[in-house]
Amino acid sequence: MPSVFIKTYGCQMNERDSEAVAAQLVAKGYTLAKSEVTADVVLLNTCSVRDFAEQKAINKMENIVGAARNKKREQIVGFMGCMAQSRGKELLDRLPDVDLVLGTQKFHRAAEYLDELLAGRRSQIVDVAPEAKSEAAIREHLLNGSAKTSVSAFVSIMQGCNQHCTFCIVPATRGEERSRTIPDVVDECRELVSRGVKEITLLGQIVTSYGRRGMSPAQPEPAAATGEPRLASRSAFVQLLDAVHEIDGLARIRFTSPHPKGYGDDLVAAYARLPKLCETAHLPLQSGSDRILKLMHRGYTREKFVAIIEKLRQAKPGIGITTDIIVGFPGETEEDFEQTLSLCREVQFDNAYIFKYSPRRDTPAADMPDQVPQTIREERNERLLNLVNEIAARKYDEFIGRRVEILVEGPSKKNAARYTGRTRCNRIVLFDGSARHQGQLMEVKIERTGSFTLYGDPAILE
Ligand code: SF4
Repeated sequence: MPSVFIKTYGCQMNERDSEAVAAQLVAKGYTLAKSEVTADVVLLNTCSVRDFAEQKAINKMENIVGAARNKKREQIVGFMGCMAQSRGKELLDRLPDVDLVLGTQKFHRAAEYLDELLAGRRSQIVDVAPEAKSEAAIREHLLNGSAKTSVSAFVSIMQGCNQHCTFCIVPATRGEERSRTIPDVVDECRELVSRGVKEITLLGQIVTSYGRRGMSPAQPEPAAATGEPRLASRSAFVQLLDAVHEIDGLARIRFTSPHPKGYGDDLVAAYARLPKLCETAHLPLQSGSDRILKLMHRGYTREKFVAIIEKLRQAKPGIGITTDIIVGFPGETEEDFEQTLSLCREVQFDNAYIFKYSPRRDTPAADMPDQVPQTIREERNERLLNLVNEIAARKYDEFIGRRVEILVEGPSKKNAARYTGRTRCNRIVLFDGSARHQGQLMEVKIERTGSFTLYGDPAILE
């Protein structure tokens, strides 16, 4: 059978989609190649969030195609994911040697199309059409015995986003919100736990909108699906958390990405109510200026954002809070940027991912007046990065001397003598461990910190 190599760009959703495609292909008898050089099939799972990510994937494909041509090597090559969806056939016009362009609602068709291409029945395939129920098709996992994948797994609960933030291309590449049913998600989680998984991260572009719209028409509504009376006071997402929490053997639940607007009182209360729900929250802020938040179409104000963080910290003291911020959005003045700096000082995020605004075609922000020059975007990026790193380092230092529970994922990639685990608030801990620690929930005492890493000693009961 042919071998396949999948290279993934972008977010955790893309990582999860690639894993599901790889698992489907392995189930059909494909082997996984270690690099694109030796593979019979090379798939690039692409990201469109920034122009840079698209260019990287296109350059990579040019190199792959050029190397195969030089070596007179037959190789099937394809683009999948967000850029495949947004550019479609245009990619073949630019790179005529590409065989497959597979959109974001078509991952489950990868094996079928590759069979046709490998057998020579078709020479090129582009499929980016919407497909009903495709949100429920991302469910295969590659738990191939490697430590990391067998302890912790990602489960896709929904696709798409209806929020239409003015800078974001995701609604165009991932389509309207479509959610899987609670029983379907719970079945997948249960199966993962039966295979040794202890931590599940529920995934979606906007998980807090889970079940609000676009449930597959043939499927029952969430509450009816569980056989429970409808809980008017709990959103479909919190009902899903409740149902996953019931799974015996599952130790930890996480989710990403939420929207700040989705942190209603029911979700905040869930942190205090559900012991398996890890005390970590990623709340994408994007800007600290109300004026810019409005231009971004984010649907909350600075004041509301800060109030949510306060509620979360009251419900779960010690909760780890991270965020995403865009600098240099069109029209962002120095004063607006100062508002972002001041919000970061006020909230003290545990970590923040900062992005320089990148205009995306067909998004309203790309055509807004007062685009911020690249040099200013870079300068603001650096200033904000210095601030959030300084705050994060201080927060890491607060762990020194404390005992924390970690879930051990496996040997460290950089130093096999060390093992790596994660705290409940999602910090990486390195310690001198061995294979017997793998998959264990254990306590470590934090001795020192490094760059976004804690170093611990297995805690010995006194
Ligand atoms: S909520 Fe997130 S995924 Fe949806 S449009 Fe806004 S930034 Fe994009």
